[in-house]
Amino acid sequence: METILCNNPNDVNITVPSRVSRKENPKTTIVNVNGVEIGGSEVIIVGGPCAIESMEQLYETAWSVKASGAKILRGGAFKPRSSPYSFQGLGEEGLKLLRQIRRKSELAVVTEVMDTRQVELVAEHADMLQIGSRNMQNYPLLKEVGLSGKPVLLKRGMMSTIEEFLHSAEYILNEGNDQVVLCERGIRTFETSTRNTLDLSAIPMLKQLSHLPVIVDPSHGTGLRWMVPVMAKAAVAAGADGLIIEVHYKPEIALCDGDQSLDPDEFAILMTDLRKVAKAVGREIS
Ligand code: PEP
Ligand code: MN
Repeated sequence: METILCNNPNDVNITVPSRVSRKENPKTTIVNVNGVEIGGSEVIIVGGPCAIESMEQLYETAWSVKASGAKILRGGAFKPRSSPYSFQGLGEEGLKLLRQIRRKSELAVVTEVMDTRQVELVAEHADMLQIGSRNMQNYPLLKEVGLSGKPVLLKRGMMSTIEEFLHSAEYILNEGNDQVVLCERGIRTFETSTRNTLDLSAIPMLKQLSHLPVIVDPSHGTGLRWMVPVMAKAAVAAGADGLIIEVHYKPEIALCDGDQSLDPDEFAILMTDLRKVAKAVGREIS
């Protein structure tokens, strides 16, 4: 379902840079992640663990999300942890596990790149490069992923406005790469009962102002496993082109973000519910 522009797009009082602007490029961009199209009528679900921990963990989780209908596998090899003493990810070893599972499962894969010096390496192993919330304004990194030519999943900075978010995306497009998906993942507010405040109004706003596809991360957006399904459904109802959801084959032993990760059964139930919501808003999930 194509976004319907409001009668007067100028009634949104922010500056939208030209390359990301829908006013200048009315047609919605389709981002092709190794054959998986984000931005079309299908709502694309990305599932997988916060961090890649082991072959067993990634294998079991990948197969369960694939069986439920996820099209892209997520998993971090380089993790941006708030504490330097927390698990930092398996690094290059994690990337190798990801590539093996990618080949066996035939799922497309997305993983985070945190440093300009890692872009080439990560691009060799992944179908899509994730720029995390903490790096949304790391301009050299944005330029580097732009130059890589790979599809980019750009997460909204946790303290960034929509205007800043769109300007960050513009950095990537400026390097000749329009394969950018915007991801709302929750912002910091005065509220403390949830990990972040998931800004669902960002979905229609971003789609109004930009031709780039928009996906939502209800896992980091809430930090609460029980709240993930309801916010996931709300995001699809509000027009999201996809979701990125943390799933772990055994959340209770996860090294990272177990409290917000669904187990395979919870994910399967959610996928069934999401298909109904997608249908109700003129979209589909295969
Ligand atoms: C993630 O998706 O693994 C992640 C660290 O998310 P964010 O950058 O949104 O905090
Ligand atoms: Mn996480």
